[in-house]
Formats: sequence, C-alpha cells, structure tokens
Amino acid sequence: MSEWWSVVAVFWTLYLVDGVFFGRRERLFLSSWRGEWRWRFWRRARVTQSPRTAHLAQASWHISPPFPWAYTLALDDLPASFAAEGFTNWPGAATSRPPPIPDSPSAASWGTAVKIGTDGPWITLGGSRFAPVTNALDGRALRELIERLAALDPGRRESEINTWHTRRFSVLRARRRLGAGMARTRGLVWMNTLQFAGWIALSVALVRGIFDPGLPFGSAGSWRWLEPEQIRWWAVCGWLFLMHFVVLGVAWRLHGKLHPLRTSERANLIFSALLLPAQAMRLRAALLGPLAQGIAPLAATLAAGTPETARVAAASTLRDLEFPVRPTGISETVSGFADSAAGLIRPAVEKALADAAKDGVAGLSAAELLAPPANLGAGVCAYCPRCGDGFLRADGQCPQGVKLRPLDRFNAVL
Ligand SMILES: [Zn+2]
Repeated sequence: MSEWWSVVAVFWTLYLVDGVFFGRRERLFLSSWRGEWRWRFWRRARVTQSPRTAHLAQASWHISPPFPWAYTLALDDLPASFAAEGFTNWPGAATSRPPPIPDSPSAASWGTAVKIGTDGPWITLGGSRFAPVTNALDGRALRELIERLAALDPGRRESEINTWHTRRFSVLRARRRLGAGMARTRGLVWMNTLQFAGWIALSVALVRGIFDPGLPFGSAGSWRWLEPEQIRWWAVCGWLFLMHFVVLGVAWRLHGKLHPLRTSERANLIFSALLLPAQAMRLRAALLGPLAQGIAPLAATLAAGTPETARVAAASTLRDLEFPVRPTGISETVSGFADSAAGLIRPAVEKALADAAKDGVAGLSAAELLAPPANLGAGVCAYCPRCGDGFLRADGQCPQGVKLRPLDRFNAVL
C-alpha cells in the first residue's frame, strides 16, 4: 500500500458525489446502470429504439449509477390540471406516489384575469404560490398555455387540451426524443468510458505503488530524470488531462446545439465539471434533462423502462386517474375542475398504454392493471382500488379517502 490511497479515495468520492441530484421536493428518476451498453452501444442502426433497461424511483435525492454509459433522467408529473371550465393546481393522472398535491389548493376560471409569475422555485398565481417550477411546467409555459386556451371557446378548448395531453403522453415522441438524445451523447460516453478505464488503471497503480508521482523529485526537491517505467504512467496522466478538456469541449458544443437558449446553465455545468473529475453521468443527465420537458413520466417509462417498471408506472397512473385522491376539505371548484380535467387526460393515457402494448409490453390493459390484488389474507372482504390494501369491513374509505370496493362483488362482475 502506498500513501496515495487517500488521494485515490478522495478522487472516487468526488466522482460519486458528482452524480448526486438534490432537490427540495420528490421527483421521479428513470435511470439505468447498464444504459445502452448491452446492445445499442454497438449497433448504430437502432438509434430510435430505446433500451428497455431503466428503472423508475421516486425520491428527493438520487445518486446516478457510477458508470459512464449509465444514464439518469429526472421526470415530473404535471403539478396542475386543465379543464374546459378552468385550471387548478390539483394534479391529475400522476405517476408518482404520493402525487404532487399542493399545500394550498387553488383554482381559476379561464375568464378571470390572473397574473402568473415566478418566485424562485415557485410559479405564482396572482402573487400566491400555485405550483413548483418543474420540468413538466414552469411559469413561462403556464402563461403561454393559459393565454392560448383562454382565447378559445369551451369546445375548442377541450380538444386543444386533449391534443396537448396526447403529445405529453405520446410513447413514440418520448422514444424519438430520448433516442435522439442518447445517440447525440454517444461520443461523450465513449470518451468517458476510456477515461474511466484510465482512472481505474491509474488508481490501481497508485495504490499498489507501481506509479509514484513523487518520484521525479529528489529528497532535496531537485529534478531527477524520470525512470523509464514511470514515463508511461505520466503519459496516462497527460492523456487523461487532455481527455478531460476534450470531453468538456464536446459537452459544451452539444449543449449549445441541443439547448441553445440555456446559456447560464451551460456555463455553470462546464465550470463545475472543470473542477470535478469529468464524468458522463452528470453531463449526460444535464444534456438529456431538458429533452424530457413536456414528456409525461408515464410516456418516458413506457418508452425506456423495463417491462416491469412500465407496468408499475402504468398501474400507478391509471389508478390515479380512476380513483383520485379527493380529501374532504378541498373546495368543490378544485375537485370539480380536477375531475373534469381527468376526463380530458384519459384518452391520452389510454392511447399511450395501447401503443406500448402494441410495442410488446405485456399486461398493459386497463382490466389487468386495475384488477384487485391477490392474496389479501383471511377475513379481508374489501380493498382499496388505489393503494391495493385489504380491509376487514366492506364499507367506508381508505385513509386517503378512496371508497373501498367489496372483493366478492368485484369478482362476481368479472
Ligand atoms: Zn387507499
């Protein structure tokens, strides 16, 4: 063991820390450890096909898989609902559990003049907090949407909202966008994989004492000639340094091409990457992140998740649509708008499930996804159709306020 092990430990800790996402609120993270390595990496022809290897997790922080070829995508449910009558910050058809329920539910009709602004991480409506700024919706997007929808008559508005959701939930569009993003960042992945190999080799050489960077300097600090076996390790160091700057240059250019308007984000990204060991996972997440804007988590998961992840996300979204949380105490306007908005999302969700099922993801039919859970235990005569918990009495509500369903009656209907 050489004394360099602490330097190596600090380096790899920084490498891992660089892949950590922190946030004030919970988000959905679609990430894959083996990325597209398994088969896409080598077959360029299949760029539009997404790898079905990703898993979905919900958390306020997330650590990216520590391999250059892995990827992470932060996704958000829409923190608002749009109905023909008006809009509210009560979410509809949310994939996350719990869904992004607001601290103070509010609603506004299309006719009323409302001032939409942004206050730090919040979208404000008439000065008070409406919804968090997310990848799904920010202040500007909400303002544009409201201006566009308010000008239409109710019938036109309904079809416009429906079209908007169909785009958000389109599996084909999600696959195309994510596939294009993956293809664009593939060069970066290659370079980072080479770097990764170099860092591992260098770490092993340092820890085992094969390479000693202190060696060229004598005990009195005077320069000595390099020993021949050390020269190649210094060459590896030089090459890694060079690669570091090449990777950052490539990331800078790609970011400029993919997201030309996000100049300050680009500067921050490259500056922070300069100071930490360059790694593809964060650069890639930053490059892919904005592409996920306007894509519903369900669409992204159906496009790139494993079949099991896709089914979990589909069931969760469908249950939120069919058995939404409407606690006593929320105003009738809010729950009315949310119910009517859910009706406008339903066709888009159904289309997404049908498209994914056609694509080979089995078990995506509504009947299967909404079926009562099996093996609820002895004496259970009712269940909550939303959370799947079993209950010993047939009437009443689950703690979330969802009406229970008797088990026998449901089975008899089937
Ligand atoms: Zn429940």
